[in-house]
Amino acid sequence: MAELPEIYLISQQMKTELVGKTVAGIEILQPKCLNISPEAFAAALNGAHILDVRYRGKWIFVDTDKGWLLLCLGMGGEILLVNRATLPEKHRVIIDFTDLTCLAVNFWWFGYVHYTDQLENHKMTANLGPNAVDLDPNSLQALFTKRRGNLKSYLLDQDRIAGIGNFYIHDILFQARLHPLRAIQTLNEYEILGLAAAISDRLLLSINKGGFYYEQNLYGQKGGFGMADLVIGYKENQPCPVCGTSIQKIKTGSTHSFICPQCQKAPQ
Ligand SMILES: [Zn+2]
Repeated sequence: MAELPEIYLISQQMKTELVGKTVAGIEILQPKCLNISPEAFAAALNGAHILDVRYRGKWIFVDTDKGWLLLCLGMGGEILLVNRATLPEKHRVIIDFTDLTCLAVNFWWFGYVHYTDQLENHKMTANLGPNAVDLDPNSLQALFTKRRGNLKSYLLDQDRIAGIGNFYIHDILFQARLHPLRAIQTLNEYEILGLAAAISDRLLLSINKGGFYYEQNLYGQKGGFGMADLVIGYKENQPCPVCGTSIQKIKTGSTHSFICPQCQKAPQ
């Protein structure tokens, strides 16, 4: 499922391609992915000029002169720039532009295509934390101050830090040599320094490789980050590349985690 690297890449491509286009029409095949009625949604965005495209975590923000189109792929999906002759077989929402290109949005399971004319009133994005790749050690330290709870839950909480999901986090925590259940208030400044570097290293590596190979970009091309690019994530029972200990899959609250029990010591 798409996390920060994939959403960053597709938002950059959308910015390149969509800014300056004008919405000519909207076709909704899955009304439940909207936050307002299909009629209100179409009326709000018809004729809108696209001014900018940016992202926050797993959400894409399309700024128009009539308000904001907000997209989230949920458990996975595609946003493709096509035309009516090259529409993909599966699509849930189509946004036509006056230049006869269109944006085809598909979800594997469920996602969101929202509209708002006031960003601060859009509950699902109004409180998102800073983008994970924008955090330096000082800002990470500031976020952690006086926070309780365990490290993994915190890193996955999109209102704290936006963009990390349950795919890249295993290698982030391994590179930082931190156990997912470490209490945040026990981290020292060197561990936070290492964690900040690990977050940016692991996410930028995937960005530089075009995102996860399972996902498509705006042009329908697959990413170049494959399972071989993972260090310990999803490698249960394989040897840790640092110490040779078998990688374990453990339950951490409602999620599973892959760890090296030697390199990432469990909290006492
Ligand atoms: Zn190890």
